[in-house]
Amino acid sequence: MAITPLMPVYPRCGFRPVRGEGAYLIEEGGDRYLDFASGIAVNILGHGHPALTKAIADQAATLMHVSNLYGSPQGEKFAQRLVDATFADTVFFTNSGAEAVECAIKTARRYHYADGHPEKHTLITFSNAFHGRTLGTISATDQDKMRSGFEPLLPGFAYAPFDDLDAALALVDENSAGFLVEPIQGEGGLKPASDAFLTGLRRVCDEKRLLLVFDEVQCGYMRSGTFFAHEQYGVRPDIMAVAKGIGGGFPLGACLASEEAAKGMVIGTHGSTYGGNPLAMAAGEAILDVILAPGFREQVQKTGERLRQRLEQMIPNHDHLFDSVRGRGLMLGIKLKSDSRAFVGYLRDEHHVLTVSAGDNVVRVLPPLNIGEDEIEVFATKLSEAARLYAPPSDD
Ligand SMILES: *Cc1c(COP(=O)(O)O)cnc(C)c1O
Repeated sequence: MAITPLMPVYPRCGFRPVRGEGAYLIEEGGDRYLDFASGIAVNILGHGHPALTKAIADQAATLMHVSNLYGSPQGEKFAQRLVDATFADTVFFTNSGAEAVECAIKTARRYHYADGHPEKHTLITFSNAFHGRTLGTISATDQDKMRSGFEPLLPGFAYAPFDDLDAALALVDENSAGFLVEPIQGEGGLKPASDAFLTGLRRVCDEKRLLLVFDEVQCGYMRSGTFFAHEQYGVRPDIMAVAKGIGGGFPLGACLASEEAAKGMVIGTHGSTYGGNPLAMAAGEAILDVILAPGFREQVQKTGERLRQRLEQMIPNHDHLFDSVRGRGLMLGIKLKSDSRAFVGYLRDEHHVLTVSAGDNVVRVLPPLNIGEDEIEVFATKLSEAARLYAPPSDD
């Protein structure tokens, strides 16, 4: 048999980490790599953070899993904390980002059904969006590379160019349920939406009783410098999908909603065997304790500003390769003038620095949120050296 035991759906590279320490990943042979990828914006406190590992170990020894048929003191407590810290009145816990988006889609459809308008089932989504890899979430993106061969997909989505308010409004009709959008696109190339775009979507939602659904799976959880990215726009969603950073590496996601938006989600309408089990709640609480502690947000903003400055300083010195810096907080990207995947591989293999490629030839720089100034300096020095020595692969 030629197929590998791990289904070969990822273009896995030769780097094989076996241990993590703070902002470093350590390979089988003992080599250390500076991790400014964080498992794609997941390990927000780096690797082996003592508060997170202790919370998981203690809870695993106490009670790992019980059915959602029973009362959940752990879930109630964590959900209450999320409700207190956000626009939301209620939370459904999932095990991943795609499941959080699925729950958001179901909540939106069910809202209009409960409201007496089952025909309002279509969510307007945006070009180059990424919402996950389930059938529902690939139906919510217009990207062929994720959809091709998986048809028939789920009906009930319409697609507009990202950040184009007029195009989005032109798609609104009697079947519209609302909009599903990432306030800052991650996979699509680290593109923040404009203020006018998100404000405009909110306005039309209010006027036409539509729902504004944010996918903050990547840009949420302090990554962009505020607890959620939409706080920087002064625009409140009705429903929001969260994951990645929320568990700091433990598989956890959440769908948050206002009471009104969740009015269709009554007993029997949704479920998950594992979702919100005591172990996941312990991980989630440990992360929340750290990131909502006084000063943490300011620290992320300060470090983000410092990292951005260092990157911007570098652009003119390497203008054969670097085009510009984008993003917010510690969700930063460098747009390259050549293929970003090739440069990310070169940085990793030759300079032992981990970053992630995104659409539009952007190198994503996603360090742990508790990164120190010295690690920023190490990163900047290595990146600058790499840029100086790098020869992009030729086209032939
Ligand atoms: C990663 C991501 C998802 C999917 O999360 P999974 O945990 O991989 O299912 C959805 N939306 C956005 C914006 C993401 O970045």
